[in-house]
Amino acid sequence: MGVTMAIRESTQVKVQDERLPYRLRERFMSAPELALFRALQNMAGKHYVVCPKVALNDIFYIVRPNENVHFFNKIFRKHVNFLLCDPKTLQPVFAIELVKPVGKSETRESDQFLGDLFLSAGLPLVHVMSSENYLEGDLAELFQLAILKVKQTKTLRATGKTDSVPHCPICGRMMVLRMHRAGPDKGKRYYGCMDNPKCGGMVRID
Ligand SMILES: [Zn+2]
Repeated sequence: MGVTMAIRESTQVKVQDERLPYRLRERFMSAPELALFRALQNMAGKHYVVCPKVALNDIFYIVRPNENVHFFNKIFRKHVNFLLCDPKTLQPVFAIELVKPVGKSETRESDQFLGDLFLSAGLPLVHVMSSENYLEGDLAELFQLAILKVKQTKTLRATGKTDSVPHCPICGRMMVLRMHRAGPDKGKRYYGCMDNPKCGGMVRID
């Protein structure tokens, strides 16, 4: 008798609570995300599959996970805005992350971490300033910069000179090796801020 009552009660509760507390969000993507998605589709849609909101945990694995729990926690529940993937294998080729205009130092720190993470794993990460309209030429330049950074890191790692890359004297970000394309220093190499053209930080190489 007591058991029957209990069952009846629990069934009643279940009927009342039949609807689970999940609701569909009004928007899956924010306006800047959607605008960037369209721009990426137009620009690279023929060569890559554009995947939105991919969990970092699905892109990377962590070496020696028992020792590196802290690093797992750093990427857990985080995602990158877009991945451009090979259309046949869906292997990631580029990652794209929207960056909010600088204001909170916290934001910048997390952008910096993401940058370091992708560099370590050797996947180009393109940081794009959040906006509602993106120019293809600007994006193309940011893609080239991302490739350059990965190449540079690989070279530095191979030659064991990782400590020799200066940080930007203006904003403190990482710098990338560049070459003067014109002017009296044409052909000469220098370090330019990774945030170029937004930041003009530069270090000469003599
Ligand atoms: Zn700078």
